Amino acid sequence: MSGKLAGRKALVTGGARGIGAAVVRRLAADRADVAINYRSSGHDADALAAEITADGRHAVAIKADVSDPDQIRRMTDQAADALGGLDILVSNAGIEHFGKLDAITPADFDRVFAINVRGQFFAVQNAVRHMGEGGKIVLTSSASAHKTVFYHALYASSKAAVECIALNLSPELGRRGITINAIAPGGTVTDMSDHAGSRYVHPDVDADFGTVIRTTSSLGRMAQPAEIAAVVSFLVSDDASFITGRTIQADGGWF
Ligand code: NAD
Repeated sequence: MSGKLAGRKALVTGGARGIGAAVVRRLAADRADVAINYRSSGHDADALAAEITADGRHAVAIKADVSDPDQIRRMTDQAADALGGLDILVSNAGIEHFGKLDAITPADFDRVFAINVRGQFFAVQNAVRHMGEGGKIVLTSSASAHKTVFYHALYASSKAAVECIALNLSPELGRRGITINAIAPGGTVTDMSDHAGSRYVHPDVDADFGTVIRTTSSLGRMAQPAEIAAVVSFLVSDDASFITGRTIQADGGWF
């Protein structure tokens, strides 16, 4: 890995496992110092922080539930205090949801949007208070925002909203020298896809998620978290200095 992020200070939400942990490892390998947000995986977050610290970078684990705006504010303040500022926010924390229209309750709707949309929006609001010129923000959408899948309207619409947040905050933040983009990963090998992958297959279809990915994507396979982290690493680097307001689809050509 390069030292392209040397001296940068990054906060990654939901950073203890899955794509978030891969992002933490990649940014640290690029020589950034990293604050690792977690909600309940304290042991994993501490172990990851210790791994990065042993490699010579500064890392800290910070507990916060991003569905609570007060906790988001404390998280960003703690990250900036611990690292000595904030240059990068990777807003990765999110939850899946599948449900038939008649079964979805207002509480389901509020829970999904509180984490996937409001959590990302207010992570941006609070993080930029600590950022100056050259700040970089990456939000997390999903290929699902661009696909038709049975019983997936709630999750998919929450991810589509994230892309609109990036698009429409980009001029305001651009005047402050900060870029904001989103990534839209396709199926990626994590706990989330382990639990929910099969639900992308219509119940009448006799196939598993792996078969569906093999037959409906150009690369014919799922992503490894490190492949998504590589896209994030690019977007938060100076190499992406002229990209803002965009969503990068990293989905292996899922069609
Ligand atoms: P994961 O379930 O393995 O990890 C999600 C992380 O978010 C966990 O660390 C979890 O603790 C954290 N999180 C959830 N709710 C939180 C909350 N309220 N406060 C703080 N942290 C919270 O899932 P993943 O696959 O690594 O997903 C990471 C992101 O990528 C999510 O936003 C997800 O929607 C998105 N995504 C995943 C895939 C995929 O196939 N895995 C595809 C497209 C998009």
